[in-house]
Amino acid sequence: MLAKWDGTDTSFMDWYRNTVEPAKANFLPPMEEMFSFQKDKDGYHLELPVSDEQKRLIFGIRPCDAKALAILDMTFKDAYEDPYYLPKRNNAVLIGLGCLKPYDSCFCTSLSVSPAESNDVDLMLTDIGTQFLVEKITQAGKELITTASGVEEATEADKTRAKEVKEASYNKVTRKIETKDIKEKLLPAFENQDYWEKVAAKCISCGICTFLCPTCYCFDINDELVKGEGARFRNWDSCAFPIYTKMPMENPREEKWQRVRQKVYHKYEFYPMLFDIIACTGCGRCIRLCPVNWDITQTLDRLPARV
Ligand code: SF4
Ligand code: SF4
Repeated sequence: MLAKWDGTDTSFMDWYRNTVEPAKANFLPPMEEMFSFQKDKDGYHLELPVSDEQKRLIFGIRPCDAKALAILDMTFKDAYEDPYYLPKRNNAVLIGLGCLKPYDSCFCTSLSVSPAESNDVDLMLTDIGTQFLVEKITQAGKELITTASGVEEATEADKTRAKEVKEASYNKVTRKIETKDIKEKLLPAFENQDYWEKVAAKCISCGICTFLCPTCYCFDINDELVKGEGARFRNWDSCAFPIYTKMPMENPREEKWQRVRQKVYHKYEFYPMLFDIIACTGCGRCIRLCPVNWDITQTLDRLPARV
């Protein structure tokens, strides 16, 4: 899990694998106040929360999750610049830590992610035994490392060791999917209700796969009102929930198979159409943490061919 770090105890690095909760929760919290309001005889008065521009340093983020943040940025900067997400995100420094023990559920290498390399962080660390090899990726990373103590120039032997470690991590990711032409393969499968019903059969619509997906960003907005004063909140929502798309006239995804299909298409068809990138980084959380072992890699692997 993500936890506050005092910067001294490094013992967690010996057992630490990727977190359950993705780093998105720092920038798009599960619940966030958008503004508060009071009502008096003159009407409603709104008050915006103090903009959260606190500097954040996220240490140990994995390359898949750093890429997921870069994907989320596209959404929150697109037609509308989100005033809640962006100030937090713009004030964050990411220190990546290479994954030496990927899970069985990880398939990041199929999504152009390498478990121990990243250009989506400010500094990238590789554990080479008794030391870490530090790579400066951005200007913010360069500035940070110049203020750090205990840093020394890497030797050729250190660099060789880091290369070996990175290659070994890459080879530990054995789960693969074929993403070439995935958009084209998905298109003809869209109307295949039989297939999506089979795929969705065991899903219990709990929403875990979307809440914990580092690239999912659906939210709902609610007002809490008690005796003339209250607040408006934005909270995580999930396309897995039956009422997620409920509208006055209809619910276009009333059936579970339609919702499961939506989750897959949003990541592998619609997001690439909008932003030219697949909105999945192969972090494997939706496989590892699903209570009924639903598996997106099997769903994509077994897509029916065009009839
Ligand atoms: S975590 Fe599993 S059971 Fe829950 S909504 Fe996702 S696929 Fe369905
Ligand atoms: S869809 Fe699954 S594997 Fe892909 S980023 Fe989301 S949780 Fe990770």
